[in-house]
Amino acid sequence: MGKPILLSVDDDADVLRAIERDLRTKYGADYRVIGTDSPQSAIGLLKQLKVRNDSVALLLADQRMPQMDGVTFLQEGMRIFPEAKRALLTAYADTNAAISAINQAGINYFFMKPWDPPAEHLYPQLDDLLDDWRATYKPSFEGIRVLGTRWSPKSYELRDFLARNRVPYQWIDVELSANDVETKQLLEALGPEAANLPIVLFPDSTKLLESVPAQVAQKVGFPTRAQTNFYDLAIIGGGPAGLAAAVYGASEGLHTVIVEREAPGGQAGMSSRIENYLGFPTGLSGGDLARRAVAQAKRFGVEILSPQEVVGVRTESPYRFLKLADGTEFSCHSLLIATGVQWRRLEAPGIDQLQGAGVYYGGGSTEALSCKGEIVYVIGGANSAGQAAMYFAKYAERVVIVVRGASLSSSMSQYLIDQIAETANIQVWANASVAEVHGDTRLQEISFLCADTGKIERVKANAMFIFIGAMPRTDWLGELIERDSHGFILTGPDLIREGQQPKGWNLERDPFLLETNVPGIFAVGDVRHGSVKRVASGVGEGSVAVQFIHKYLSKV
Ligand SMILES: Cc1cc2nc3c(=O)[nH]c(=O)nc-3n(C[C@H](O)[C@H](O)[C@H](O)COP(=O)(O)OP(=O)(O)OC[C@H]3O[C@@H](n4cnc5c(N)ncnc54)[C@H](O)[C@@H]3O)c2cc1C
Repeated sequence: MGKPILLSVDDDADVLRAIERDLRTKYGADYRVIGTDSPQSAIGLLKQLKVRNDSVALLLADQRMPQMDGVTFLQEGMRIFPEAKRALLTAYADTNAAISAINQAGINYFFMKPWDPPAEHLYPQLDDLLDDWRATYKPSFEGIRVLGTRWSPKSYELRDFLARNRVPYQWIDVELSANDVETKQLLEALGPEAANLPIVLFPDSTKLLESVPAQVAQKVGFPTRAQTNFYDLAIIGGGPAGLAAAVYGASEGLHTVIVEREAPGGQAGMSSRIENYLGFPTGLSGGDLARRAVAQAKRFGVEILSPQEVVGVRTESPYRFLKLADGTEFSCHSLLIATGVQWRRLEAPGIDQLQGAGVYYGGGSTEALSCKGEIVYVIGGANSAGQAAMYFAKYAERVVIVVRGASLSSSMSQYLIDQIAETANIQVWANASVAEVHGDTRLQEISFLCADTGKIERVKANAMFIFIGAMPRTDWLGELIERDSHGFILTGPDLIREGQQPKGWNLERDPFLLETNVPGIFAVGDVRHGSVKRVASGVGEGSVAVQFIHKYLSKV
């Protein structure tokens, strides 16, 4: 925690030195003492301190300064740090000016020059002022601050990125807190730059305007470049399947790297509560599971490049090369694809324009607090929708789960159906589907088609969360890896057709259980054709794959 600041301003270098020395002697242990000889530069400094979220306890200014007198400086300073105590240094001749400034500039005290001995003429009065200041002082937040607006897709993208990567930050909605004094002062201190939302303010006083996740990742120091150009095992995707494979691979001596496009944890990382994962009888959040898995993988020396995307794979026997979105490449002996699935898009007029501005795919933790007291629509009837509804119900006035079918029973686990039935502010709206969403810059209304009546019902809405299933995104694998008609990767026995090995397969043995049509390239988890879409099965497949990888490596 940075110390609160005592700022003194005096154009006379000797007086400035003397006051700084006396302040430091008595208060240096608890406060940072800063001195400047120019009131203008002191105003600039105060603005910087405001943007950095520093605390200023005392402004002490000489009354007679050629560019700006002390009273005017203190008035200006008060606009930036209203809670700071204000004191004037005056010569005897300026006493009247100082007295009249007590009201005019809200001066708390004026000191006569010289103040010797300070133990008599300076410290007792300052002790009083600083005690007073401390009584109402709230230490300011020292981490990253994000300024934006709730309905801005760019702000949402940034907050979601920080939340999923577990980077602590303070969110300041400049519209919602427009009347908040602190926010007003901060925006004033930022000046014209305040228009470039979203803005990220870092504790080292740097800032990013119109910021995007990649810039923040770079600034925060997320590793996105491989440390070497060759690995025993490279894993694409840092969901449960990829992380499990990394833990087993690295713990068994394989030099292992994971490349993850968004945030380690994958889909599971978005889950508010996983209740069916073995060993956690009261459930655990996806974020918690991801945090533990990442720590475990790192402990075994796994390198995690995130956010970083793999955009291509090629082979040059016996090497497999990964091409990354930043244009770099590295190679490995064995490759594991664990890229999971991504949300299926909802086809309805207006959805694309309002994404991130009231319409969200998945999501939850980032937006839940903003939905306090509102009606939230959750679209979909699977477990992910049920978990999200339970989570939103803690904040929202009412949560409406909208399903195409007649009930939840065909798509949701019974434990969630029971929880939902017992939650008074969750309502299930069956036989309905989204026909259109309405709003110019943010979601305002949703039109639902009611299958039983054939009628359209239009309702007011601030937020709609879509959980309508997911699809693999595997186009970037080109012709190299065989997939089914939906894009899921074929492995092991699925590749043997009428007793024939896959095309181009040049080994005597058949592909191993989780191996693709290219020797040494494996696929696990949700992206694999026929996989069970669960955390435990992804973890299981990731762990089992490592045994086949060892077998493969023993013959390379
Ligand atoms: C909201 C929600 C709640 C759920 N709740 C439960 C539950 O309670 N219990 C349960 O068992 N299951 C649950 N599931 C399902 C479970 O999360 C998934 O089955 C599991 O996460 C699949 O793991 P995976 O590693 O195969 O893939 P994913 O978790 O999808 O991870 C794949 C990762 O690969 C990354 N990636 C994709 N393409 C690339 C690329 N080209 N380059 C780099 N990285 C890439 C993605 O960013 C992603 O992080 C839930 C899912 C959701 C969405």
